[in-house]
Amino acid sequence: MNLDKTKYGPQRTLARRAEVAGFGFWTGKDVLLEFLPAPENYGIRFCRTGSNGEPVPALLEHRAEKPHQSSLTDGEVRFDMIEHVLAALAGEQIDNCLVRIDGEEMPGIDGSSRPFSDAIRAAGIQKQNVPRRLRVLRSPVRLEGDWGLIEALPSEEGEITYRYELDYSRHESAPPTLQKQSFEITFYGDGATNADRLFESEVAPARTFLTSAEAYRLLEMGLCRRVTPRDALVFGPEGPIENTLRYPDECARHKVLDMMGDFSLGGALLVAKIRARYTGHVQNASLLKKILEQTSIL
Ligand SMILES: [Zn+2]
Repeated sequence: MNLDKTKYGPQRTLARRAEVAGFGFWTGKDVLLEFLPAPENYGIRFCRTGSNGEPVPALLEHRAEKPHQSSLTDGEVRFDMIEHVLAALAGEQIDNCLVRIDGEEMPGIDGSSRPFSDAIRAAGIQKQNVPRRLRVLRSPVRLEGDWGLIEALPSEEGEITYRYELDYSRHESAPPTLQKQSFEITFYGDGATNADRLFESEVAPARTFLTSAEAYRLLEMGLCRRVTPRDALVFGPEGPIENTLRYPDECARHKVLDMMGDFSLGGALLVAKIRARYTGHVQNASLLKKILEQTSIL
C-alpha cells in the first residue's frame, strides 16, 4: 500500500474548552469533565481538576484492569470508564486534548459517546499545522479462543474499518430480544462522508447495553444504583426496558464504539481493518498490544 498521509488531514484539537456534567454509572458520583485544547503532538491526556500532578497519557501502557470498562492509571491517580470519552475524541478525529475531571469515573450520561461528541462539536474543532500521527498495520494480527475472535488486517487503500459480530445466544440468561447482529463501518474509504460526521450519525449515539439478569447482579453488588433503564439499554424478555432502540443493531454499533475508544490507546490513528466477534475491552487491549509490537508511529 502506498500511503497518502494527506487523506487523514492535519492534527486537530478543540477550538476552545468544552464541558460535560453527569454522574458515573458505576459509582453514582456527580462529576464535571472538561475537554481542553492542547498543542500539536500532545496526544490525549487525563488530569484531575485542581491537581498539580502530571497528566496521564491515554496510552496502553497506562491501562488498568477493571471489569467491564477501560481505565487509566499512573499508579497515583485513576480515570475509570474512559472508553466512551476516548471514542468521542477518536470519532471527532481529535489528536490533541487534555481531559480534566473532578472525580475518578467519567460521566455516563446516556451510555453513549453522543454527549461528548456534541460538546466537542459545539466548542469547535481547530486544525493544527502538522500531519496526523499514524500507525499503519502491515501484516495480520489475530487472537482466538473460547471467548471469540478478534483480528486486525492491513487495509489496501488506507481505509479504516471496524466490524463487530454480536451473538448473545451463547449467554444462558440472554433474552431472545437481544438478537444476533453485526455492524461494519469504514472511515477514510472511497466516497465516504467526512469521518467525524460519519461517526456522529452512525456510531456516537449507540448506547451501552446489558441484560436484566446482569443488571440485577450489579445492583446486588451495590453498583450502578443510580442508573435507571432510561440511562442505558437493559434487555428484558420483551426487549429494552422503558426504552427504545436508536438503531436495530444498536448493540453491535456500541461494541464498535468501544473498540474505537480502546484502540485509540495506540496513541495514533490506527490504519487497519479490525474485526471482532464476542469480544470486550480485555481482548481489545490484548490485540492492541500485539499491534504495538509490530508498528511504529509514522
Ligand atoms: Zn461501552
